[in-house]
Amino acid sequence: MERFSIINREDADSKAVTLKIKTELINGGLSYDETSPQLVICVGGDGTLLYAVHQYIDLLDKVYFVALHTGTLGFYTDYTRDQIDELIHDILNDHHAYIYSPKLLEVKIKNQTFYALNEIRIENILRTQTFDIYVDGEFFERFKGNGMCLSTQAGSTAYNRSLKGAVIDAGVSLMQLVEIAGIHDHQHRTMGVPYIMRDDRAVKFKGNFANASLCYDYLYTRLDGVDEINCKMSYRKVRFIRYHEYSYLERLRNLY
Ligand code: NAP
Repeated sequence: MERFSIINREDADSKAVTLKIKTELINGGLSYDETSPQLVICVGGDGTLLYAVHQYIDLLDKVYFVALHTGTLGFYTDYTRDQIDELIHDILNDHHAYIYSPKLLEVKIKNQTFYALNEIRIENILRTQTFDIYVDGEFFERFKGNGMCLSTQAGSTAYNRSLKGAVIDAGVSLMQLVEIAGIHDHQHRTMGVPYIMRDDRAVKFKGNFANASLCYDYLYTRLDGVDEINCKMSYRKVRFIRYHEYSYLERLRNLY
């Protein structure tokens, strides 16, 4: 790696850590390049990493990501605040253990495409949202409620977990569909539990989405005038460079 950039959470501590990393990597012979970096270093938290991924969404096949958490430990962050020197040493010596490459979710709405590393959500907090769900073109069920969350394995510990979706082990590629405040009464009933599906499925939502939003990671777009939303796993991946072992169980234990 010769060129790097750093994205931080913009709090005072993350900025101070950023300055130290940037100075020492430049002193070590690397060059700082925000336009075409080979390595993007994230300083902050999992949210900062999501921000960095979307900042470099058009360069995903050219960049690697590594992240340091300035708070607790996270799922995308391999280093803590007291491991700054280790991170700098690992980058300068570039002896990485392996590359972890989770796929993104891809959503098509009319002629627009959106990507998400954690999840996409259809959310309507103003009106009862009704839509039909199709899996691989076959009708599955009609949903009524606040919305739906479709998450990746990587996103299973994020919003999905708050919805009582299952936490999915590292290395498994799949999609998980979970209701957001679904209505279940004597007139209307859906399956009502998380549906974990193969990653080559195609999921379509059809309905009137006035007043609803599509949330994708920390971003969102309004769905007024939209009547069809098509989702699948993308061929596009985020490439994390893993310099040292930090087990998934340890990441999980640090979550709560
Ligand atoms: P954010 O402040 O950037 O993140 C909200 C929280 O979710 C933070 O504590 C963040 O950790 C954590 N997080 C993000 N990705 C995670 C993952 N893969 N596994 C475990 N925890 C994760 O919030 P935002 O900008 O609104 O949205 C970014 C993401 O946050 C969304 O994709 C969504 O999954 C998640 N979120 C969850 C809830 C919920 O559980 N009710 C609500 C809103 C958003 P750090 O502190 O390390 O950044």
